[in-house]
Amino acid sequence: MVKQRTLKSITRAVGVGIHSGQKVEMTLRPAPPDTGIVFRRVDLCPPVDIPVGVTSVSDTRMATTISPGGDPGAPRVQTIEHLLSACAGLGLDNLVVDINADEVPVLDGSAASFVFLLQSAGIALQDAPKRFLKVNKPVEVRQGEGKKLMWARLEPHHGYTLSFEIEFDNPAVAATGSRFVFDMGSGKYKKEIARARTFGMTSDIDLMRSRGLTLGGSMDNAIVVDDYKVLNAEGLRYDDEFVKHKILDAIGDMQVAGMPLLAAYTSFKGGHALNNKLLRALLADPEAYEVVTFGDEREAPKGLAELAPAW
Ligand SMILES: [Zn+2]
Repeated sequence: MVKQRTLKSITRAVGVGIHSGQKVEMTLRPAPPDTGIVFRRVDLCPPVDIPVGVTSVSDTRMATTISPGGDPGAPRVQTIEHLLSACAGLGLDNLVVDINADEVPVLDGSAASFVFLLQSAGIALQDAPKRFLKVNKPVEVRQGEGKKLMWARLEPHHGYTLSFEIEFDNPAVAATGSRFVFDMGSGKYKKEIARARTFGMTSDIDLMRSRGLTLGGSMDNAIVVDDYKVLNAEGLRYDDEFVKHKILDAIGDMQVAGMPLLAAYTSFKGGHALNNKLLRALLADPEAYEVVTFGDEREAPKGLAELAPAW
């Protein structure tokens, strides 16, 4: 049987929220089978639980934010996508995340710190079948026209692949690889994807700050580019770090479904908003998906039974 996974022990992280600039402490705890990932706002009295789910998403501007029932007026946790991406990359299903502010710490701007943290805590197999969201027919969402066109699509596939293409009107970004295809069954998430950092253009930063966004952003947790070059002294971690970060985000945004997909995901210039719209479109059509388990590991797509070693 392909089994569900949780953490073996409790682990903690301290950092700042990239948008709020607030200091935040997070405690990640093991959770029983079928819990999914649940954020618990322990700074509120009484604490408020926010289970991760497609309809919990309450804001997708700049980051993925969840609230109970997707109510934008309710307590929230923003910027969940990099932690969720790390959970997907390690095949983690169940986790309770105590958090004392409304934003997940950005740490180094990628998923690598979360991968390290989760792997250090250890991964435990649980005696319950792992569920996968199997896509049975193509679903596509689109937005804009002409130069502003963006789209995202899910297609049936015995496995889980993600293909992304970016197109930025910025010479420094355009000079790097604009398209990447990643196979989640390859076992290369940690090496190929997890280290890709979020990024911002100097031309956008003043505008975002005036709207109260990216208050905690710096060259310690983001790639910063002006019109011509990357400003971080250490340069890029991958030649195509920008498009790889978009894949890292998409993996996190798709994990909002509460289980890994069995699908081929493709996006042209998409982002958090389109990713959530895509999942909502998938789940709105009962013929488009089914939830499956694998009683025999040999029937699971190659690599997806063992994303990371459990010990
Ligand atoms: Zn991101």
